[in-house]
Amino acid sequence: MAVVQLGSCGGCQLSLLDLGERFLEIMESYSMEYFLMIKEADAPPEVDIALVEGTVRHARHLAMARMTRERASLLVALGTCSVFGGVQGLCNAHGEGRWEESLSRAGAGEDIPMFTRRVMPLDAYVSVDFRLPGCPVPAELLWSFLQQVGEGGRPARETATVCTECPRTGRGEGGGPHRFIEEDSRPGTCFLEQGYLCMGPLTRDGCASRCPGSWDYPCRGCRGPSDGALAFQQLDPLRESLRRLSRSTGEKEEKVVELFMDAPQAFFMFSLAEPTFRGRRRGGTSGLVFRI
Ligand code: SF4
Ligand code: SF4
Repeated sequence: MAVVQLGSCGGCQLSLLDLGERFLEIMESYSMEYFLMIKEADAPPEVDIALVEGTVRHARHLAMARMTRERASLLVALGTCSVFGGVQGLCNAHGEGRWEESLSRAGAGEDIPMFTRRVMPLDAYVSVDFRLPGCPVPAELLWSFLQQVGEGGRPARETATVCTECPRTGRGEGGGPHRFIEEDSRPGTCFLEQGYLCMGPLTRDGCASRCPGSWDYPCRGCRGPSDGALAFQQLDPLRESLRRLSRSTGEKEEKVVELFMDAPQAFFMFSLAEPTFRGRRRGGTSGLVFRI
């Protein structure tokens, strides 16, 4: 196995280490040939499986992604940055000049590799065999994935939404709209129904709905769009979320949208780089992306 990092925070690699003793159990089936978090090495060698975390943000990332693809029998896009572009996709809401200016202000030296014009998922550059989104990827999901692949299986991907795993229910109580979670948010009641933006209806399942289910916080969409959200051409996450919030609160969509001063961050924090959304309805994603 090789674990490779492109442009990312390292959180999904930590999910692997987060498995604790189970990580050591996994290492009884795999030999770890490249994982810079735990041992030094020059480059990934030929391996059966490579877990690739992060986005291709510049020329060095691209070279690493291509080299890994050539040397790995199975390539897994690990985490939402790799699968959907992740939070780096928010760069697509700005022109190139903006971030070049930021780099220069931050004192970046001469040795800056050539940047990509915009952020795109890893499969825009190399072919990908499996996708494991999540920010970070849930450790339990990674565990069962590696077990199944280690036994020669082909794990099925999750296709439904966070709502299908969520224990919260509608109770016809209404309220909101609210911009942030307030102290009197009602446990057990669906966040959308209470007038909070919850991305659960559009987000891929597989995390056991950990935010609304265990942490009393609405889903931010970190597992990226569900299959339905990707396939249904009329659906734009921004328009759809506003429609649902408007229906649950009785407020007009124009009024609801005023709450969200930074629409890319609120509605597309993890998926603005997803090409499927770019061409959708006027006034939705396409209006947020600087270069289409
Ligand atoms: S909208 Fe959010 S709170 Fe409501 S059921 Fe879906 S995931 Fe749970
Ligand atoms: S509930 Fe939503 S934001 Fe929370 S872990 Fe799951 S997909 Fe990510």
